[in-house]
Amino acid sequence: MAAPLILGIDLGTTNSLAAVMMPSGPVVVRDAAGDALVPSVIAFGSDGGVTVGAAARAQAVLNPLRTVYSVKRLMGRGIEELTEDLRHLAYPVAAGRGGTVCVTIDGHQMTPQELSAIILREVKARAEAALGQQITQAVITVPAYFDDSQRQATRDAGAIAGLDVRRIVNEPTAAALAYGLGRKVDATLAVYDLGGGTFDVSVLRVAGGVFQVLSTDGDTHLGGDDLDREIIDLVVAEVRGRAGAELTFPPATRQALRDLAEAAKIRLSSDPAARIEVDLGDGQRFQREIKREEFEARAARWVEHTIEHCRAALKAAGLTTEQIDEVVLVGGCTRIPLVRRRVEEFFGRRPYTALNPEEVVAMGAAVQAGILAGIQRDTLLLDVTPLSLGIETLGGATGKLILRNSTVPCQAAETFTTYVDGQTSVDIHVLQGERELARDCRSLGSFKLRGIPPMPAGMPRILVTFLIDANGILNVSARELRSGKEASVQIVPAHGLTRDEVVRMVKESYAHAVADLAAHRLIDLRNEATRILAAIDKALADLPDLLTAPQRAGLDAAVAELKAKMAGDDGDALYAAMRAANDAAAPLTQAQMDEVLKKTAVGKKLEEFGEGNAKC
Ligand code: ADP
Ligand code: MG
Repeated sequence: MAAPLILGIDLGTTNSLAAVMMPSGPVVVRDAAGDALVPSVIAFGSDGGVTVGAAARAQAVLNPLRTVYSVKRLMGRGIEELTEDLRHLAYPVAAGRGGTVCVTIDGHQMTPQELSAIILREVKARAEAALGQQITQAVITVPAYFDDSQRQATRDAGAIAGLDVRRIVNEPTAAALAYGLGRKVDATLAVYDLGGGTFDVSVLRVAGGVFQVLSTDGDTHLGGDDLDREIIDLVVAEVRGRAGAELTFPPATRQALRDLAEAAKIRLSSDPAARIEVDLGDGQRFQREIKREEFEARAARWVEHTIEHCRAALKAAGLTTEQIDEVVLVGGCTRIPLVRRRVEEFFGRRPYTALNPEEVVAMGAAVQAGILAGIQRDTLLLDVTPLSLGIETLGGATGKLILRNSTVPCQAAETFTTYVDGQTSVDIHVLQGERELARDCRSLGSFKLRGIPPMPAGMPRILVTFLIDANGILNVSARELRSGKEASVQIVPAHGLTRDEVVRMVKESYAHAVADLAAHRLIDLRNEATRILAAIDKALADLPDLLTAPQRAGLDAAVAELKAKMAGDDGDALYAAMRAANDAAAPLTQAQMDEVLKKTAVGKKLEEFGEGNAKC
C-alpha cells in the first residue's frame, strides 16, 4: 500500500507554498508556469468572487477594503494585542467573540482562521492539481515564537481547509531539516529569517534528531516591505521635487510604484543597477536608474536592526557567535547581497544558502511529513560523495575536481584560464556525474565570475575551489588570482538523487567510458588547436616579415591541414596536424615569445577588450 501523502505547507505572512517528500527528497509544488509561491493575499470581488495569490496581490492598493493580506498577524490574537499591527492594515479588523478578532467584508464577518483556510485551500488545490491526487493531511509551519493559541488557530485553519494537520513545526526547525541538519549529533544553529514583513532569528540546539529552541528574537514589523518603501520614498521625493511638493498619487500609480519598487529591489540582488520607470499619468513618465550601492545605503539601517536582534537572541541563549556551529538563511530578503555579507560578518562563518530561501521552510515541512508518513528518506551516504563533482570546461567537457567516493569533508582546487583575449567574465557550471561530457552529467547550478581585468587569453589564473563540508553541502568558489575577483555558489549535491539514480549514473559511465573518453580527448584537442591557430595568426600579424617564402608556404599548408582535421573526428590525425603546425610555426613563436613578454610587462589598455562570455 502506498504511504499516505502528507503535504508540507509554509503558511507565510507574505507568501505560502507547499512541498512533498519524494523518494529522492523534498520537492516543491509548482504550477504549470513553474511558480511555487502563492502570495498570501485574498481579494473579495464585488460580485462575490474570491481570488487568492498573485492576482489578488496585483490589485491590493486599488481595492484596499476588499483585499486581505498578512492574516498571519491576526492568528490567535486578541484585538488589544494588535494595536501596532492594525496601523499597518488597510482592511477593517474588529473585535470578535471571546477576545478574538474578525475581518468584515460587505457586512460579512470572517475569522483569521477562516481567511487562512482560504489560502490553505488554494495551496492544497494547487498541490492536488500538480500531483494528480487528493490530499487530506498536512504538516504546517509556524514561527518559533507562536504561542499555544496561535498554533491552535493554525491547526483550526487547516481543519477548515479540509486538512488533518498532523504536526505543527517551527519554521527554523523546518529550515534546518531541509538542510539535513537534523542528523547532526549535537550542534547549535542560528536561523536568520528575513521575509516580506517580519524578521525572526532563532537559536536552536539539535541533538540526536531532536530540536530545541534556545531563544528567539526579531521584529514583527521589519522585512522586505520596508526596503520596498525605501525605494518608493526615493522616487516619490524626486517626483515631488520636480512636480511640486503637494502632488498626490492616484491609487493606480501607488500600486504600480509598489510593484516597481519590489521588482527593483529583487533585481538589485543580482544586478549592480536597476531601472525604474513610472507612468505618472497625463503622458508623463518618471525614469531613473538606482544603483546597488544607493539601495544598500538606504537598506543598511534595517539590516543593522536585524543584526541587533541576532545579538539579543545569542544573549538570551547565553551564547557567543563562536558557539554557533551553523547559520541558515531563510526568507526572500536573504538573497540581498548586503544581508548575506552582514550575517556572515556577524557570525564569522558563511551561512547556508544552497536551498532557495523562500522554499526551504516548505521543503523542511515535507521532510517532517516524510518522517511521519514513514517514508524512509533514501539518504545518500554523507561520509562519501556518491558521484564525482566538477565543472564544464571549454567545448562541453567535464573537468572533475572531486572524484566519487571521496571522503567528506573534502576540498579540491584547480586553476583554469580564458580562451578569448580580453575576456572579462567566465561562467562556472557545476556538474555531478561520471561521464566525460557536460551534457551527460547532472547540472547542479552555475554562476558567473565577473570583473576580470581584460588580459590576453591564457593569462588570467582562475582558481576554482570545491569544498564539501561535513553536512554534504558543496561550496564552489572561483577566484581570479591576478585581480582577486571572486564569486561563489552553494549547493546541496545530494538533493533530488536516489541511490538508484546514483547506481544508474555510475553504470552508464562504465558503459560509455571508451566513447566518452574519446569525445573528451577530441574536445581538448580542438581547444588546443584553436589556441594554436590563434597564436599563429597573432604571430603572423605581429611579425609579418619574419618567415622566408618557403617557410611561409609550409606554415600555410600546415594551418590548412589542421583546420581540415579539426572539422573531422579523428583525434590521432588532429594531434599529428597540431604538431606539424606547431613545428612549421616554430621560428615565429620563438621570436614572438620575447614580444609577448614585453607586452605583458607594459600592460594592455582597457578599451581594447570587451566582455567575453566563453567558458573557462
Ligand atoms: P514570508 O516568509 O514573510 O511569507 P518570503 O520569505 O516569501 O516571506 O519573502 C518575501 C520577501 O522576499 C518579499 O519582500 C520579496 O520582495 C523578497 N524577495 C524575494 N526575492 C528576492 C530577491 N531576489 N532579492 C530581494 N528580495 C527578495
Ligand atoms: Mg517565511
